[in-house]
Amino acid sequence: MFVDSAKIKVKAGNGGDGCVSFRREKYVAAGGPDGGDGGKGGDIVFKVDDSLTTLADFRYKRKYSAPNGSNGQGGRKNGRKGEDLVILVPRGTVIREAESGAVMADMSTDEPFIAAKGGRGGWGNPHFATPTRQVPRFAKQGTPGEEWELTLELKLLADVGLLGFPNVGKSTFISVVSQAKPIIADYHFTTITPVLGVISMGEGNSFVMADIPGLIEGAGDGVGLGHEFLRHVDRCRLLVHIIDAAGSEGRDPVDDFNIINAELEKFSPELAERPQIVVANKIDLASDEQLEKLRDYFTSLGCEYYEMCAPISHGTKEIVSALWNKLQTLPPIKQYDSESIPLEMYEKTQDKGFTIRVEDGVYFVEAPWLLKILQRCDLDDYESLQYFQRVLNSSGITDALREKGINEGDTVSIYDLEFDFVN
Ligand code: GDP
Ligand code: MG
Repeated sequence: MFVDSAKIKVKAGNGGDGCVSFRREKYVAAGGPDGGDGGKGGDIVFKVDDSLTTLADFRYKRKYSAPNGSNGQGGRKNGRKGEDLVILVPRGTVIREAESGAVMADMSTDEPFIAAKGGRGGWGNPHFATPTRQVPRFAKQGTPGEEWELTLELKLLADVGLLGFPNVGKSTFISVVSQAKPIIADYHFTTITPVLGVISMGEGNSFVMADIPGLIEGAGDGVGLGHEFLRHVDRCRLLVHIIDAAGSEGRDPVDDFNIINAELEKFSPELAERPQIVVANKIDLASDEQLEKLRDYFTSLGCEYYEMCAPISHGTKEIVSALWNKLQTLPPIKQYDSESIPLEMYEKTQDKGFTIRVEDGVYFVEAPWLLKILQRCDLDDYESLQYFQRVLNSSGITDALREKGINEGDTVSIYDLEFDFVN
């Protein structure tokens, strides 16, 4: 089966804990603190692999987790870092946060994308030694790795997308004009994975054409055309709508054309507006009257219209140069910009537990879920800061600090953030 979308869970590795340890040497009564730091957890990293053409692998494996960092050890031995987990995806995969639908990344380039950051390793006890606290009996825990539910959607990067009912000759066309070798057979749905063909125009010029999975069975009987495949033409700058001029399967080519366009409109009015070139194939099987009728019809619609017999490359050269010329006038392939994930998503998905520890007048707050908000929050930004304060109030942290006897001006330490308490 052909799969062009998937939902998966990813979890980056947790940071290892810092260690509490003291040097033990011969003849030294009480050595200094020597607990190592915890190692960083592994990241979840996405990378493009051009040998992949579908998201099929993700149907069988839906959970991905990167290893945790190791804990620190005595003798200032820091914990080992967890390895990053690399997930390979086909080029053109759009990654979204599942619940909000926010685009996290468009995997169109070779740039890797870190979807979930590994937790930080906790500090070992030497970090907490001060002139007045020479025997720190505490260390910090590592922080948890980020966790996300993601949707992956394959939106192929092609300049030209082929549209048309099964068996009209789409695969044959792409195979004669490019190096692509799709399966060609006279039964429906032979195209089960999208095929990309590069069409060379000489002098280093080329464009990419996509032969995409056909429509679902029974389409002509009003079962519906299966919108799934239309995802792939979403980014195409130009559509080539191929029809069977001879109606060799008993359907009328004009009906076919209208059915597909109606579906296109239903799926996405924007896509329906995309420029289309109409190509009548199988002219070797069509009568003169049939061809005459098609020419009249499409000319009256004002369509750019061509004819071919794909298997013998009759007419294909003219079509390719028409496509190339048309492409020169069209905007570049659409890219999806990353959107910011609503901060509420960070708050919602996490267990809201926290602990408060008071050390030498400093109030240390530990709450793994809060760290995630902190990592993504830009605290120089007024709105984000306001949001952060609301979270402190609504989670009960502010009240808990008061219960512990915090006074105006005392220091609050939340991971990397330190601020003075204001009542
Ligand atoms: P697709 O389903 O649209 O990809 O169609 P294919 O390219 O797989 O072609 C379906 C069948 O039609 C195959 O048996 C082809 O050999 C045949 N075919 C394709 N183009 C032509 C043509 O111009 N003339 C004739 N007679 N047969 C064709
Ligand atoms: Mg095909």
